[in-house]
Amino acid sequence: NVPIAELLTRPAILIGRSETARNPAIPLPCDLYQPQRLNSRGIEFGDRAALAELLGEIETARRPLPTIAAATPAQVGAAITAARGGFESWSLTPVDHRAAILERAGDLLEQRRAAFVALLQDEGGKTLDDCVAEVREAIDYCRYYASEGRQLFGEPLALPGPTGERNTLGLRGRGVFVAISPWNFPLAIFLGQVTAALIAGNAVVAKPAEQTPVIADLAVRLLHEAGVPRTALHLVQGDGSIGATLVEQPDVAGVVFTGSTEVARTINRTLAAKDGPIVPLIAETGGINAMIVDATALPEQVADDVIASAFRSAGQRCSALRLLCVQADVADRVIAMIAGAARELRIGDPRDPATHVGPVIDAEAKARLDAHIAAMTRAARLHFAGTAPASGNFVAPHVFELSRASQLTEEVFGPILHVVRYKATQFDNLLGDIAGTGYALTLGVQSRIDDTIARVIARLPTGNIYVNRNIVGAVVGVQPFGGSGLSGTGPKAGGPHYLPRFALEQMVSINT
Ligand code: GLU
Repeated sequence: NVPIAELLTRPAILIGRSETARNPAIPLPCDLYQPQRLNSRGIEFGDRAALAELLGEIETARRPLPTIAAATPAQVGAAITAARGGFESWSLTPVDHRAAILERAGDLLEQRRAAFVALLQDEGGKTLDDCVAEVREAIDYCRYYASEGRQLFGEPLALPGPTGERNTLGLRGRGVFVAISPWNFPLAIFLGQVTAALIAGNAVVAKPAEQTPVIADLAVRLLHEAGVPRTALHLVQGDGSIGATLVEQPDVAGVVFTGSTEVARTINRTLAAKDGPIVPLIAETGGINAMIVDATALPEQVADDVIASAFRSAGQRCSALRLLCVQADVADRVIAMIAGAARELRIGDPRDPATHVGPVIDAEAKARLDAHIAAMTRAARLHFAGTAPASGNFVAPHVFELSRASQLTEEVFGPILHVVRYKATQFDNLLGDIAGTGYALTLGVQSRIDDTIARVIARLPTGNIYVNRNIVGAVVGVQPFGGSGLSGTGPKAGGPHYLPRFALEQMVSINT
């Protein structure tokens, strides 16, 4: 019997292909940090007793969801002013102290994971393995940014002195950072943004998605309990209008946003139109993510990876697979296998550990996805339609075949897979179609031919390329996550270049 404490902290069973992930003994880029979440496919409970114990802990921790009031515009202004007041002392707090606070937050999350899993199920509609993976990812962000922060924000970097002076380059907080986060990773992305801004020495005003206010509320309480001063971290709740009011405030020194491309543009315009300092935006947005499957791929593996990438999390990840491009020679077989595997998926209550696909986030999302399914049913060939419970915000997995990749013009944020066939002679056109979407977030390649893989990597600027595996579940510190073009500004979350973008560079040259 695996004790429950160990179950959630040990590296889960891993089926992926990364050597680093498969063997945690191989040194990671940062030897002070070991990710919790080594499994890109969520968790597998080999031990029934341990699973029963976990489920018991989650039920004990489950509480009715409180109602959380939205902030008023006046409260938004007050939060920025208060954060401005808290900035200086926080930015002058030694980084070792700031890092220790984040590490304490990681430890508290670990202790309270059952409560967060219950909340992620109840407020976020996420399945058990998605919830466990998300709590792990949140812990990873706290520990990874603490560890990176200690290296970056401690002593300034000594530069060469051929000019005869002592030259150094230091990093310091910018001021008040606004963090606007999505509902699909209401704990991990929320904490990832907030902890990155904090460790860099900024005060933070965070605005979580209106669909998941309770998780954010609990996460902020946890950070305060861990030692983040109340003046340095503020939470404002509300819908997009509150986010817009926040971004308009004069004292904002930076914005980090994860969500739609359209909202990122709006934020960018607002920032550009403001008087005063030029305010940087770090945006991570969506994708029309493709997977290319050639005739040398292993169909069983493709089916497994497609199911994980397109339908798990009900397709509500910005990394999720939207467009499967299969070489015509093997397309019938591959599509039949995917349909067969999709038929095995259980759609329903996210609190049931046997559920693979939970609900989508709300009735509005369901209505949008249902309309897309209706349009595709008219315009494309239906290969598979699952069955979902009639009541609740469920959308069953669907597989449609398009005649051209360009028929898919926008990100469809749900469990709907679009397939196109390509002929080997049209490979370059296919790469052109994928580049032509303008998005560049995730991409899968399933092939046994090294040259094909190399061609794809050389041709496409996609941020996260996954070869012969699924395309979701980037591991913090090991698989930095984020794209370019319509998919965002970079830098990659959970990577070595992320934190410096939250800071100011300061060069000091001393004539000794
Ligand atoms: N980082 C997540 C992944 O690799 C996706 C994040 C998102 O959906 O915003 O699957």
